[in-house]
Amino acid sequence: MACIFCRIERGELPSSRVFEDERFLAFMDIHPWRPGHVLVVPRRHAARVAELPEGEAEALFALGLRLAAAIRASELPCADLHFVLNDGKGANQSVPHVHLHLIPRQRRDFLKLAGAVISRPLVPLGRPAAREVLDAQAEQIRAALQAR
Ligand code: AMP
Ligand code: ZN
Repeated sequence: MACIFCRIERGELPSSRVFEDERFLAFMDIHPWRPGHVLVVPRRHAARVAELPEGEAEALFALGLRLAAAIRASELPCADLHFVLNDGKGANQSVPHVHLHLIPRQRRDFLKLAGAVISRPLVPLGRPAAREVLDAQAEQIRAALQAR
């Protein structure tokens, strides 16, 4: 069976999309570590960064920078943010399709972030974020992107 992100790319699974072009998609993480958590994903399947076609890792990061600026400029609370890329199972990659996490941080939210990180193994048992909340956040980021 195809991986989850390939199924999202094909429109077989729902996603709250922030951005798309011929090479990349960006959508809201369904189990956000913090509100506004976005995933930037190459359309073409590759499990690891080193398997991406030439130039695509650089383009992925460049798009991540653009989207991070849009998140900062949006109505979402974002004091600063993490760029995270888990490359391989041994580095806690759970979806074997390259993705760059953009995780907004708020002031004094360390305990909330730590709680999300610690409870990650339990995530499959937990409820995903509500689709309407993710859609509204995606809309806020899209609006900030268009205004730039
Ligand atoms: P990683 O552990 O780096 O592989 O991150 C995978 C991320 O994908 C996790 O943060 C999940 O919450 C997220 N995720 C899994 N399934 C979906 C989905 N259907 N839509 C959006 N995000 C997803
Ligand atoms: Zn895939």
